[in-house]
Amino acid sequence: MSISDDQPAVHLDWVQLELDRIAFNGLTRFRRALKFSPNGSILYRGKNLVNFSSNDYLGLSQHPNIIKSACKAIKAFGAGATASPLVSGYTRLHRSFEKELALWEGLDDSIVFPSGYSANLGTITALVHPKDLILSDSLNHASIIDACRLSHCTSRFYRHNNLDHLQELIALNREKYRNLWIVSDSLFSMDGDFALVKQLYDVALKNDAMLILDEAHATGVIGNFARGLTDLLPEGIDWQDRIVKLGTLSKAFGSQGGFVCAKKQIINLIKNKARPYIFSTALSPAAVAAARASLKLISKDKNRTELIQHLSAYLRSKLLELNINIGASESQIIPIIIGDASKTLRLSKNLIKRGFFVPAIRPPSVPKNTSRLRISLNANHNVEVLNDFISNLKLALTET
Ligand code: PMP
Repeated sequence: MSISDDQPAVHLDWVQLELDRIAFNGLTRFRRALKFSPNGSILYRGKNLVNFSSNDYLGLSQHPNIIKSACKAIKAFGAGATASPLVSGYTRLHRSFEKELALWEGLDDSIVFPSGYSANLGTITALVHPKDLILSDSLNHASIIDACRLSHCTSRFYRHNNLDHLQELIALNREKYRNLWIVSDSLFSMDGDFALVKQLYDVALKNDAMLILDEAHATGVIGNFARGLTDLLPEGIDWQDRIVKLGTLSKAFGSQGGFVCAKKQIINLIKNKARPYIFSTALSPAAVAAARASLKLISKDKNRTELIQHLSAYLRSKLLELNINIGASESQIIPIIIGDASKTLRLSKNLIKRGFFVPAIRPPSVPKNTSRLRISLNANHNVEVLNDFISNLKLALTET
């Protein structure tokens, strides 16, 4: 079957043509209407599935205190924020949360966005000038890629975690641009490996650059204080001058929304210039209150963070013992790299029959021929569940 690029004569025929092209490449997307039970498992077609797909790393989206806080906020502030933050959507709740978040992160100030995606879009487009240069890790999240495009500046990818390539690009280009921005996920969402944050910081310092670090998957999970990869930086470094930290409230915080923590001036500039902040309704009071309750819990109680770190190390070691390709994963995100898109989908379906919900991730979310099952662990799992999964995975791999 060949699909033509010619403009079809009939109105809207191009839509079907495009859908056919997607299907032809085995990349049709579909959604399943799911229901979650309080322990985080998925109810699907009357069956309870162990959920390996969620970003709710600490299981807080179902935590009774977090839910209670959200309900309380709805009663006090209403179901929606009703306006953008600069008009009248910003409440005492938003202000308290931003202060607490900045304090916890050890940074001057913070600002909360309606999503992590819009936080990346808003921050990068607000801070980066058309005469600036962005150097971005090639495996950065789509929201960073889109933000770079929208910034109207020059942006280049450096090969994933490749400091030599980064420095080569700096040597070739730095002189021609006003400011230099290095942008990286801290924990890569499709591979589960870490950015070389200390080295990126050193490169930024040496070249009078700023480092924008997206800690979406690391917040709440990595580091002694669960604040992400910046917790792993050696003590005594004044990184707060050089790093703008981004995060999301929709993963370990179990709520919804995104945030930025940085020096006060930087946050002020974002507040004044970030279009996704200025032209969108503020984050809902329920989401803020839930995230605020999660923050309180995460900063007081290390149990969930330690559990997820332990489970991640356990599963990675078991999969490696079986010679399963988990790429460079060093976290709670563990890819099982299969390669072929259709085979990956079949494997995912086989595992659903066996009681495990493990999403198949295919291009364009990952590079061609690197389709994978992507395991996201969370604090509702335990070692018995992981052992059961490994036995079933072995069988599924022989059947598919
Ligand atoms: N950054 C990264 C690294 C992500 O993986 C994601 C979402 N998966 C986002 C940002 C966007 O966050 P949100 O879902 O809150 O929009």
